[in-house]
Amino acid sequence: MNAVGGVSILHIHSGSSRRLNLNTQLLFHPFSGLLKRSDLFSRLPMENLPQLPLELWVYVFSFLSTEEKHTTRTCCTYLRRLIDHPSLWRGYTVHLSELRRYTYGLWNTLQNRKLTRVAVRHLRRKEWRRLVKFLPSLTAIVFVDGGRLYKEKYLDNLSRFEELRDLGMRNATWCEPMLGRNVTAQLQERLTHLSVCNVRLPCTVEFINTVSHLVNLRYLLFHQQGEGYGLGTVRPVPRSVFHNLLLSLKKLKHLSWGMRGEPPEPLPDDYFSPLDSDHSGTFRYGGPALTNLELVDYPETILPENALRSLISLRSLTVRYRYIREGVECRLSSWLSPLQQLETLTIIGGNSLAAYTTTIPSSVTRLTLRVAITLKDMDSIAPKVPGLKHLDIEQNRSSGSLCRRIPMLFPQLRTLRIRFFRREPEKDLLSLHRLRHLVQLELLVERSFILRDYLNGHPWPSPCVQQLIDQLKELSENRITVNTTMRQRNPLRECDCVWEGD
Ligand SMILES: [Zn+2]
Repeated sequence: MNAVGGVSILHIHSGSSRRLNLNTQLLFHPFSGLLKRSDLFSRLPMENLPQLPLELWVYVFSFLSTEEKHTTRTCCTYLRRLIDHPSLWRGYTVHLSELRRYTYGLWNTLQNRKLTRVAVRHLRRKEWRRLVKFLPSLTAIVFVDGGRLYKEKYLDNLSRFEELRDLGMRNATWCEPMLGRNVTAQLQERLTHLSVCNVRLPCTVEFINTVSHLVNLRYLLFHQQGEGYGLGTVRPVPRSVFHNLLLSLKKLKHLSWGMRGEPPEPLPDDYFSPLDSDHSGTFRYGGPALTNLELVDYPETILPENALRSLISLRSLTVRYRYIREGVECRLSSWLSPLQQLETLTIIGGNSLAAYTTTIPSSVTRLTLRVAITLKDMDSIAPKVPGLKHLDIEQNRSSGSLCRRIPMLFPQLRTLRIRFFRREPEKDLLSLHRLRHLVQLELLVERSFILRDYLNGHPWPSPCVQQLIDQLKELSENRITVNTTMRQRNPLRECDCVWEGD
């Protein structure tokens, strides 16, 4: 099988007569690039594979990427069986498409790996049947880019997956309710995770009222699209309907709430603060104790200053701006001030950092910033977050050396991720070895940067950068692992609005 949607799927081959060239030293160095295809053939005969306990093999293979696993399993039956061990695929979401063409061997492989999470495009009737027959224990299913006009009965088969907990729907149009009465009745106790992004629904209010019945939801992602077929303005979920949702979903921990389009009017002050009806008189927050909130395109023109005042249980806040709105006062600073338990803060786009750095709570240990950043900004953030352990930023726009400065400003860092888009890293990268606790460094570039200016056909990292990386590893005595490839997308959690890979 081939790749679908840029994600490698499954490669099922046999090849038991092939010989291996297993460089055992390479194999057992867990952080080396491991098992390049060319290493796998010719020198050692199969029977000379080291006799190791299963656990050890599985541990070694756990360092391989999905692609490397697929390559390794083509070598022989023995390695194929090892690679298909369920513990190597735990939590993995497999993309399935054209299910009609799958052989029994392929379904068998999926069963051997005990895969329970799938991403599919459009399922025809026969394909539904196969999925139910061969993967009856599915726990998670996400429909991506269906590209059809859907009716209520399309999801009826979901009730046949008794273990189903996690449902996602992306980029589709429904002319009837997506969660009809039947399927809701079946799933209302089962579902713990629901994500719906860029889905055109016949009636948003009706949909949210249905979601209010899914009482065991812990995770809800709803990135609203317009209704019906017209483009039109997106009307936000009205306060009373949203409050009913929050009051009903007592177990909700993670909420990602977004919209496409510009609503005509700001939302009321208490939009995120439903009142506890058992306590009349003084105000008391009656919604769930959210720990994670993500706001996608809810800028200052919509959300008032004290919108988050009741969400004091938040540990993680993500704000994604789509545009910079000139002349609108930044409210991040007042949104942040009640969040004294916040550990993770992610800001994508929007206002200049200077507008809110002073109110970043000192409890923050994980910070992601996708905004224009200067050394001066870094200087003002550092004293606010003395315990920062994880930092994810873009290359700075001023000419000073960011990498030289970071070890002084954030000495506690464990992980660091930098995206380059203007010029490749230079010698100051080596200063990062002074971060005594650093164990993981990610150096990424935007694809447009490679195409536009830079490598002239070289893959990233270029030979110069690779040399710097090698030196950095040496200076840190191999304490620092350096990664230069984008991690794999999780199709169940990362819709197009939030995925920043190519
Ligand atoms: Zn989305």
